[in-house]
Amino acid sequence: AKEAGRARHEVFDSVMRAGAIRRLEIVNDLHRALERNQFVLHFQPQIDLRTNSLIGVEALLRWVHPERGLIPPLEFIPVAEETGLINDLGRWVLRAACQQGRTWLDRFPDREPLVMSVNLSGRQLHQPRLAEEVAAALEDSGFPADQLVLEITESVLMNDTAATIHTLEALKELGVRLAIDDFGTGYSSLTYLQRFPIDILKIDKSFVDGLGSANIEESAVTRTIVALAKTLRLETVAEGVERSEHVRELQSLHCDIGQGYFFARPLDAGALTTLMAQPDTP
Ligand code: C2E
Ligand code: CA
Ligand code: CA
Ligand code: CA
Repeated sequence: AKEAGRARHEVFDSVMRAGAIRRLEIVNDLHRALERNQFVLHFQPQIDLRTNSLIGVEALLRWVHPERGLIPPLEFIPVAEETGLINDLGRWVLRAACQQGRTWLDRFPDREPLVMSVNLSGRQLHQPRLAEEVAAALEDSGFPADQLVLEITESVLMNDTAATIHTLEALKELGVRLAIDDFGTGYSSLTYLQRFPIDILKIDKSFVDGLGSANIEESAVTRTIVALAKTLRLETVAEGVERSEHVRELQSLHCDIGQGYFFARPLDAGALTTLMAQPDTP
C-alpha cells in the first residue's frame, strides 16, 4: 500500500511539474504572441429566439500557437491577467472585434443592426483609460457604439464598487451596452443590479442545462432570472444552449436571445461570413 502510495505521489508530482512547465512556457511565449500576430477572434452567433434570426455574435479569443496549435482562452487569459498583458491584449480584442463588425455591416447592410459582444476582464475594468480605448476602437473602425456590448462577469462587479461604477458610467456615456456574463454564478447580492448601469443578463450555461426537464425545479433559476430581467427591463441571453428542448423552454419563458452549440459553435471570421451570405440564414 505504501509502495502504491509513493507511485501515485510520483505520478501526481510529474503531472504537477508538467503543468508548471506548460504554464512557464505560456508566460514566456505570451508576451511575444501579440507582436507576432498569433491571436485570432472566433465569433459565436447569437439568435433572436422570437424570430430565429442571427442578430449578433460574441467575439471569443484564440491563440494560434506555432507549435501547440489553438490554445483556448482559459489557458492563457488568467496568465495574461496576472502579468498585466491583458490590457494590451484586451485593447487588441476590442479593435479587432469592432473592425470585423464594421466589415460585416458593410458587406451585409440588410443585416443591420448586427450586435458585437466583447468580453472584458476584471483588470481591464480597473484601468482608468478603458472608456477612452473603447471610444478609440469605435471611432477608428466606424462601428456604431449602440451595437457594441461589453460583457463583464458578475464577480468583477462585486469588488471595488465606486471605481467600477465610475468606469461603467463612462462606458455607458459612449452609447455602448453592458452585459453581466455568467449571471447567477457569482456571489449573489442582487443589489448591484440597481447600482450598476446594466442592460443585459447572460444566463449561465449551468442553469440552461436544466431546461426541458420534466422536473420543474431544474428550470427554476432560469425562470427566475428571466422574470427578474423583465421587471428591471433588461435583455436576457441564454448561454450554452445545446438542445432543442432548451430552445423550446427558453421560448416559452420569453428569453430574448440564445447562444450555444445548438445554433452554432464559435466560427472564424471566414466561416461566419459564409454563413451570413447563405440565403437561408435568417
Ligand atoms: P464566456 O464568456 O462565458 O464564453 C462562453 C464560452 O462557452 C466559450 O468558451 C464558448 O465557446 C463556450 N460555449 C458556447 N456555447 C456552448 C455550448 O453550447 N456548450 C458548451 N459546452 N460551451 C459553449 P471559450 O471560447 O473557450 O471561452 C472561455 C472563456 O474565456 C469565456 O467564457 C470568457 O470568460 C473568456 N474569454 C474568451 N475570449 C475572451 C476575451 O477576448 N477577453 C477576455 N477577457 N476573456 C475572454
Ligand atoms: Ca462572455
Ligand atoms: Ca458566459
Ligand atoms: Ca462562462
